Amino acid sequence: MTNELEHFIGGKRVAGTSGSFGDVFDPNTGEVQARVPFASADEVTAAVDDAAKAQPAWAAQNPQKRARVLMRFLQLVNDEMDSLARLLSSEHGKTVADAKGDIQRGLEVVEFACGIPHLLKGEYSESVGTGIDVYSMRQPLGVVAGITPFNFPAMIPLWKAAPAIACGNAFVLKPSERDPSVPLRLAELFVEAGLPPGVFNVVNGDKTAVDAILTEPRIEAVGFVGSSSIAEYIYSTAAAHGKRAQCFGGAKNHLIVMPDADLDQAADALIGAGYGSAGERCMAISVAVPVGEPTAQALMEKLVERVNRLKIGTSFDESADFGPLVTPQAVQRVRDLIGVGVEEGAELVVDGRDFRLEGHENGFFLGASLFDHVTPDMRIYQEEIFGPVLSVVRAADYDEALRLPTEHEYGNGVSIFTRDGDAAREFAARVNTGMVGVNVPIPVPIAYHTFGGWKRSGFGDLNQHGPDSIRFYTKTKTVTSRWPSGLKEGASFTIPTMH
Ligand code: NAD
Repeated sequence: MTNELEHFIGGKRVAGTSGSFGDVFDPNTGEVQARVPFASADEVTAAVDDAAKAQPAWAAQNPQKRARVLMRFLQLVNDEMDSLARLLSSEHGKTVADAKGDIQRGLEVVEFACGIPHLLKGEYSESVGTGIDVYSMRQPLGVVAGITPFNFPAMIPLWKAAPAIACGNAFVLKPSERDPSVPLRLAELFVEAGLPPGVFNVVNGDKTAVDAILTEPRIEAVGFVGSSSIAEYIYSTAAAHGKRAQCFGGAKNHLIVMPDADLDQAADALIGAGYGSAGERCMAISVAVPVGEPTAQALMEKLVERVNRLKIGTSFDESADFGPLVTPQAVQRVRDLIGVGVEEGAELVVDGRDFRLEGHENGFFLGASLFDHVTPDMRIYQEEIFGPVLSVVRAADYDEALRLPTEHEYGNGVSIFTRDGDAAREFAARVNTGMVGVNVPIPVPIAYHTFGGWKRSGFGDLNQHGPDSIRFYTKTKTVTSRWPSGLKEGASFTIPTMH
């Protein structure tokens, strides 16, 4: 019988009551391994009821005590790392080693949030006028929500929830319906770590649950990660309902290879960042930009040789470089886009469409594909493919290479490989994207800096994790106090100034 998953509300797993379900696949075999309940608006309301009830007492605990809960949670997740990674891998299809990275990058933000007593310190100005001091404090918003994508089912929920609950908020998570089991297990571990029931809730679901979150008056802020069109919808709908919103979208990340770069290093970087996790990463490199013809020729030789050596296997195969995609729809979309690229005249140097894994013929596998001579007018350049496909766009010179990511509608990450510090510095300063790597192919910033893309890769004005996350999940209150001790000025009818 197919396993039936639940929601997590009020500190425990609860069965869905809407009668509506979605399938969770095993991408290695193509079989449906579980059914996930889709929450009705009433079920979302029930989660918010519990969150609203639990939040004031949680916020009233001192920050050090809140941090200690997160510290215990870190320990519990680390103790379960192997089984959690296998669970993640079984629903997503990324390799177990990569699944551990997914969990670990989430835990790094939990570690950051353990510094909450320090991070919540306000500002103080003494004697700004006679007997007048001004101070500010950061207070939690109340109940906040996160809506997250399939491709990092541990990392992104933790990027959102850890700072939010550290700040004293209660959190309602609507994870991806494609791989909901790890978020449910994390919810149990939060409670085991001492988080009061109701402070972290999981409602599974589709657009119905999302719309209920967006229109629920008690939810003060929404953090979203997913594709750009949905990000834009979430941002505008949340704002129209008076909520704070930060919504991160899709990407088309370029890696510029300058003529002076170490080409073996650049080729290895392109292979890892282009095909790791079957290209299902928002920071995957999907466009390689060699500068000048000799660089392009030499780089292509190295790429072809490496792409042909890639090993595709099940997500549990320790020798596999990458595993299956997440759903049959994802496979079909990538296949279709490869076909579009061929029709548009790009040169498909390696074609991964016919790859079959013996013994797993119904799994959602695709081989690695490599396009050369891609141009900016092609759909395969403009759209996010989100699969194991790397496109090479040959640039005549540095100016053209800089223009490509700068003018692209997405602006998540970009990278330059060069030995020239001057070129790297000028590129980092001028390129129009949110995150830049210099000889680093996937420039995901460390937890105590912030993560966020520009243009259609990010809607809203504060980034994820790092100091911005504390700003996003708190509101600032500023107190002006005066202790006049004998001062008698009489009534004043003009606005107070510092004159
Ligand atoms: P998605 O947009 O399909 O889904 C994201 C979330 O939105 C899910 O929880 C889903 O249930 C919900 N959703 C889907 N359709 C909806 C609708 N019509 N109305 C309301 N809610 C809806 O994204 P995905 O396929 O799960 O994830 C892949 C995408 O996420 C890629 O575009 C990738 O680049 C992006 N991503 C971006 C970042 C980033 O930080 N910029 C990080 C990871 C993934």
